[in-house]
Amino acid sequence: MSRDNGRVVGSTRILNNGSNAARFNIVLLAEGFTDGQQDDFNERCDEFVGVLQGDPWFRGLLPGINVHRVNIESDDAGTDDPESCDGDGTEADTFFDSSFCTGFPVAIRRLMHFDSWLAAEVCDDEVAEWDIAIVVVNSSTLGGAGGGRIAIATVAGDWANTALHELGHSAFGLADEYPYWDNCGEEGHDHPFPGLEPWEANITRAQHGFPPSLAETRSQVKWGHLIDADTPVPTARNPDCGDCPPESNPLDAADEIGLFEGAQYHHCDLFRPAFKCRMRVQARPFCFVCIERAHAVLRPHLPDGPHVVADVDELDFGDLCSGATATLRFRIANLGDVFGEVALESSIGEVTAELQPFGMPPGTLIAEGGLVPGQLARVTVTFGPLDLPSTVPQREIAGDLRVRVDGGTDVVLPLRVTVHRPRAAADISPAELDFGDVAAGLTMYRRLRLRNNSGPCPLALDVYAHELTGPFAFVDTISDELEFQVPGNQTRDVYLKFTAPDEPGAEFTGEFRLVTSDPNAAERVVPLRARAVAPVPVDSVLVIDRSGSMSGETGEEGQHKIDHAIFAVDLYTSLLRGTDGIALVRFNAHSSAGDGDVLVPLAAAGPEPDGAGRQAVRSVLAQGTAGPLHPSGSTSIGAGMLLGSAVLEDGTATRRAIVVLTDGRENEGATIEEAKAEILSQVPAQRLYSVGFGLDQLMASVVAAASETGGSALVTGDVAAAKEFLLQKLFVQILSDEADWSMLEDPIRQLEGGESGFSLVRTAETDLFADFIVTFREGPSFPKYLRTWLKMPSGAVILPDTLEDYPGTRYVVRGSHLCYRVPLPPVPEQPSAHLGPWEVWVANDTRPGEGATLHYSVIGRAFSNLRLGGRLVQRGFAAGAPMEITLSPTLYGVPAAVEEPIRVRVILPDGHTQNMQLHDGAGLYRGTFAETHQVGPYHFDCAAVIRTPSGVPVTRSRYLGGMILPPPKGKGPERARDPRLSELLVQSLLEALRRLRLEPPGRR
Ligand SMILES: [Zn+2]
Ligand SMILES: [Zn+2]
Repeated sequence: MSRDNGRVVGSTRILNNGSNAARFNIVLLAEGFTDGQQDDFNERCDEFVGVLQGDPWFRGLLPGINVHRVNIESDDAGTDDPESCDGDGTEADTFFDSSFCTGFPVAIRRLMHFDSWLAAEVCDDEVAEWDIAIVVVNSSTLGGAGGGRIAIATVAGDWANTALHELGHSAFGLADEYPYWDNCGEEGHDHPFPGLEPWEANITRAQHGFPPSLAETRSQVKWGHLIDADTPVPTARNPDCGDCPPESNPLDAADEIGLFEGAQYHHCDLFRPAFKCRMRVQARPFCFVCIERAHAVLRPHLPDGPHVVADVDELDFGDLCSGATATLRFRIANLGDVFGEVALESSIGEVTAELQPFGMPPGTLIAEGGLVPGQLARVTVTFGPLDLPSTVPQREIAGDLRVRVDGGTDVVLPLRVTVHRPRAAADISPAELDFGDVAAGLTMYRRLRLRNNSGPCPLALDVYAHELTGPFAFVDTISDELEFQVPGNQTRDVYLKFTAPDEPGAEFTGEFRLVTSDPNAAERVVPLRARAVAPVPVDSVLVIDRSGSMSGETGEEGQHKIDHAIFAVDLYTSLLRGTDGIALVRFNAHSSAGDGDVLVPLAAAGPEPDGAGRQAVRSVLAQGTAGPLHPSGSTSIGAGMLLGSAVLEDGTATRRAIVVLTDGRENEGATIEEAKAEILSQVPAQRLYSVGFGLDQLMASVVAAASETGGSALVTGDVAAAKEFLLQKLFVQILSDEADWSMLEDPIRQLEGGESGFSLVRTAETDLFADFIVTFREGPSFPKYLRTWLKMPSGAVILPDTLEDYPGTRYVVRGSHLCYRVPLPPVPEQPSAHLGPWEVWVANDTRPGEGATLHYSVIGRAFSNLRLGGRLVQRGFAAGAPMEITLSPTLYGVPAAVEEPIRVRVILPDGHTQNMQLHDGAGLYRGTFAETHQVGPYHFDCAAVIRTPSGVPVTRSRYLGGMILPPPKGKGPERARDPRLSELLVQSLLEALRRLRLEPPGRR
């Protein structure tokens, strides 16, 4: 026999409530624990007792219970786990010969069997008065069996809670309260077999009479005496018997008694008493219906006398405001076997007087006549109101609530409450505001943050900022004082600004006084500091391709590429600041100073509109294609890059940009690699921007060179229709990137004769200077019959002939563009006049019906503290290579959150558009565009809406470009070179998308 596979060591009473003869005896038997593992078994038994003592109601029954452990050494550890049930094949020689994999006709792995005759024999020997036993199996695989007088369970997982649930079945005859057998979608468990009312105490059909009807009052429910008068009956029904009942509890507590549909493996018709009881969820406490049943079973074993218990250990009111009241509820029950008279007393030592707010004079009887055995009573405890004197910020009150039990043991519940006076507590940071180095003429902002750390009883914080000194100003007001309130536990930011005068090197200090209603931060002086520095100029060399192909058309009839190049250079020249440097270089098959290819040596742009540098560039442009930009010859991009780099060596600015405009792919003479090495060796660093004009592609080496120098490479494709003004836009973006400006919206418009319209461009307090640019298709009628004006958000109108009202505002008009250059705010006395949408009005003054069509685009850009950085990374240029986009919005140099999802419109090489989603991650917005099956340029038109500190939503936009190159000649499958075939592939892909109803949005 298996008694040979080990030996019984002996038994120990681990929960001792008196003689075994009087008590209910629970025996735990060790199985599969070797002689060296008896301490493990002992620990497991202690866990079980811990769970008994931790169950709020069940612990009240423990005076009637003894728990014993029987130490038994097995020869082997564990238990049998037969392979026939997908077990690991373990065969262990254990005392009770236990095993997984029981059942007939189908063996279930988790169902266990053991030698129950032997177990009963051991119990008889060791604890003669035993009532119930559990064989505790040393295995971490979940398994067990119950139902009889001896249950078996492995020590897997939360085994002790499981064991107490099993005890609910085996010792007290309780039913499972969970409403499914295996899962909620199963068949055959919607309704129980229509039969009698179940005999178990904790489930009911809640039906009376015939035909069956549902119980609608407490008195019709078998545990109705435990349902509170306020609780609806039925409490929760299952609207869909094909599924489990909803996981929502209409009552406050999971163990509050009601009538809940769904119990004992059925979704409907069987009802349970509580939302969650241990008989449904094993780690929860027993509900009182189950406790009442357990009490009835254990009553013969209970000691004489009343035994009153509470379902809480203490009464903690937490934080309460002066003058407020709070209520706590708890329940008491008599789990003894004799009637008990109960009185409730509060006793709080020397501060007894403060007990009055608890609303319970000492000695109040709470249950008339007391509690019969098993009876439940509800207690409501109210505290307050207690008014604290103004000198006392808070007071902690502690004491006891005593449930005095006549003839039994009192229950003592500690009482706790902390009463607070409402308060405001100012937390101000930083201690000083340092604006750092600010370029002359520019405005910098700094933030002071006031947090009102009120705590549980909030009071608004009054703040008064005044006595502002130095060349500093509050952003919110033109006066030098500011008054506001910060609500409790909230934050308010105060922005100050500093405008650097045109005297670099000067240092400025100032301060202001901050008075708050917080007595602990009554007055604070905030020092202010700033230094004016020279603005950061940018030296640019524009390197223009004049190879023969530049005379070609743009895609828009009658427009030539070289003209567009001239327009773009002209606009770039307009937007320069006086201290910026500009040079112009040309290239075709060659580019060298000796051949006269330096058209304009590096010079300061000079004052607007006719500074020396600007004039020099424009005099070259004015000659058009008849002058030195006359298209001829082939293309050597490398030579142009080299000459541009050499010209920049004469510069003085720390920021240096080489802007190469090319329409060719061929390369002659000096190689691009050589030019890249030369550019990378320069100090200060030079950045290469390369624009492939009218091209679908640029050489990969040019793209690499741009990327490695920190610049960018873009291709325009045809500059027609929606992209007519793209080249100008790209040039504006390049200059803006170099000089730390931001691009605003840039809508595209068309106006017939006699029509006018406006485009919206938004600016905010973060913007220091704005350019409102109108680029247009030049012709005999325009700019002659083109009229523009700006309407400010405040409603005021800026016209070219009212500029004197707006000091510092300038107006530039050229052959293909015009520009309003506006310092913000335009009128210093109206600091908020520019916050919001500007209307950039354009009128076509040619005759209605017979005039010329005006094609134009509005570009806004701002020198701003709100920026949208961005880049596009491509790991390859073959069709299908993903294009990764990262956008980084920043506000005052700190990552900023966008208001709504960033809008990215992707223009595919064939002109179709798609929208793209970006994902937020640590201040960066990323996305990958993978539908790059077409060869050619891809444009990503990105716009982000960001709310500025003053609450103005503004848009920042950015163009990013990617390109897919055709397969290299002589490589890859022959057929892939046939452009018609690639087109066919694209067409069939689009056809497939259409069939899947996934047609790309925005198709025209
Ligand atoms: Zn169960
Ligand atoms: Zn229950």
